[in-house]
Amino acid sequence: MILVRPFISRFAIAEASALSDYLGMKRFGLVGVLPLTLSVAILEAEPVPNTDRIGTPKGDITVYVINHATFALGWSNLTIYVDPVGPQERFGALPRPDLVLITDTHSDHFSPDTLKFVLTDQTRLVVPPAVAAQLAEPLRERTTVMTNGQVETVLNIKIEAVPAYNITPARLRYHSKGRGNGYVLTLGGTRVYISGDTEDIPEMRSLKDIDIAFVCMNLPYTMTVEQAADAVRAFRPKIVYPYHYRGSDLQKFKTLVGEDPSIEVRLRDWYRQ
Ligand SMILES: [Zn+2]
Repeated sequence: MILVRPFISRFAIAEASALSDYLGMKRFGLVGVLPLTLSVAILEAEPVPNTDRIGTPKGDITVYVINHATFALGWSNLTIYVDPVGPQERFGALPRPDLVLITDTHSDHFSPDTLKFVLTDQTRLVVPPAVAAQLAEPLRERTTVMTNGQVETVLNIKIEAVPAYNITPARLRYHSKGRGNGYVLTLGGTRVYISGDTEDIPEMRSLKDIDIAFVCMNLPYTMTVEQAADAVRAFRPKIVYPYHYRGSDLQKFKTLVGEDPSIEVRLRDWYRQ
């Protein structure tokens, strides 16, 4: 998938250019400027890549953007799914998971139906207690139940469960403190933060040494782009992916994060399906 995608992408670009050239010549003779204009317009309409490779001193981390809160990470010989929900087609091109992290009980994070087809017999799970209570019995023996603040090592990956909750009075009903987990994973020295559903809580602002962050932002369930950008500027990840952002103004988020803190904002299309 990773190897094929750039080829498809280049092919699509070449095809778009050829089409625009053809249209330009057909309508306007050999006017040179218009085909270029059309070509740019078509390129901009192309979906952004949904697979990233991030180099680290100990090998690449692959990020597979799937949908909303659902994504996967490839690291070493391991595949980690985060909040796998949705139909089987979403996962068809991916390796099966060695590890599944679940952040919360809500249906955009936890789907017993999806787990039935994504898990192998060996897949390990990491979940908060509220999710563990709803897991099928056979899964529980390979599940590590983690509460906020707990640190465990699973498959040689250090996993810290961090808080994720609402603090705005009108939103307290969505995510109470202690029910859900965010996670910080250490992948060969690279620290990856997964926010779960949360606002800009003090525990997020005080995170240290985060290399890659996945930060939610959407109303009414989590937080505004202003809150998210402010928190990101406080803990300064090297790379931040807005995710779980349905309906939010990502350009505004990127502008608010700004250039000066050396934070790379990676905007990807998390709603293409
Ligand atoms: Zn959610």
